Amino acid sequence: MKLKDKVAIVTGAGSGIGAETARRMAREGAKVYCADIRAEAAEKTAKEIGGDAKSLELDVTSSSAIAAAVERISREAGRIDILVNNAGITIVGSIMDLSEEQWDRELDINLKSIFLMSRAVWPQMAGQGGGVILNTASIAGITAIPADAAYCASKAGVVMLTKCMAVDGARSGIRVNCVCPGFIDTPMIHGYFNDQPDPAAARDYAVRLHPLGRLGRPDDIADAFVHLATDDAKWVTGTAHVVDGGLLAGLPG
Ligand code: NAP
Repeated sequence: MKLKDKVAIVTGAGSGIGAETARRMAREGAKVYCADIRAEAAEKTAKEIGGDAKSLELDVTSSSAIAAAVERISREAGRIDILVNNAGITIVGSIMDLSEEQWDRELDINLKSIFLMSRAVWPQMAGQGGGVILNTASIAGITAIPADAAYCASKAGVVMLTKCMAVDGARSGIRVNCVCPGFIDTPMIHGYFNDQPDPAAARDYAVRLHPLGRLGRPDDIADAFVHLATDDAKWVTGTAHVVDGGLLAGLPG
C-alpha cells in the first residue's frame, strides 16, 4: 500500500474522475476526505469506500467554506498529505456565445478554486515538512477545442498555476503536478456531447480523436494521480502529465 496513513482531500469526489481517484487512493491506504458541492454524492463515494473515508460538502469557490473544511481536517487528522484539486465544470461556447457570468463561473470553479484550496492547505503542508498537490487540467489547457473558450482558458491557467506552485513550494517539500486528460467517459463529457448539435456524432468524433481507439475511463486518470501522489514520483514536480490515449501526439490514422 503506497499511500498508507496519508491524509488526502479529493474535490469533485462525488462523480467521475474524482470518485475513482478517491477510491484508488483509499485502496493504497490513504484516509480520504471526499469533497463535493453535492453532499449526497460525496457521501455515496465515502460510503462505498468505507473504513476511514469521510465525506465533506464543499463548494470550492467559497474561501470561508474551504477555511472551515481545512481547519476541520487538520484538527481531526492532524495532517494533510495530498490535495487533489479536481472539481470542475464545462460551459460550451465561443467568446461570442458566453455571458460574463458564465465566463466568471467557469474560471472561478476550474481555476480560482485551485488558488483558494491550495493556499488553505499550504501552511499545514509546509509545517509538517511537505505534501503533494495534484490538479486536474486537460488537453484543453494545451490545445484549443472549438467553442470551448472559457474551459480551455481555465485549464491553460491550471497548467501554469501548477508550475508556479511547484516552483514556490519546492523549498517547503510541496510537490505540485497536474494531469491533462483526454476525453473521459464521465457525466461531464456526456453533458458536453449533449450540448452539441448531434451528440452521437460528437461522441464518435471524440473516440476517433484518440489513437488508442476509445474514450478514457476515470481509472486511467486515477492511476496517474496515485502514481504522482506516491514516492514513486518523489522527484517529479511542475509537470503537466498528459493521459490522453495519444490524442495530442498527432492525427489518428
Ligand atoms: P464530473 O463527473 O461532472 O465530476 C465533477 C464533480 O465536481 C461533480 O460532482 C460536480 O458536481 C463537482 N463540482 C462542480 N462544481 C463544484 C464546486 N464548486 N465545488 C465542489 N464540487 C464541484 O466531471 P469529471 O469528468 O469527473 O471531471 C473532473 C475534472 O476532470 C474536472 O476538472 C474536469 O474539467 C476534468 N476533465 C474532465 C475531462 C472529461 O472528458 N471528462 C477531460 C479533461 C479534464 P455537479 O455534478 O453538481 O456539477
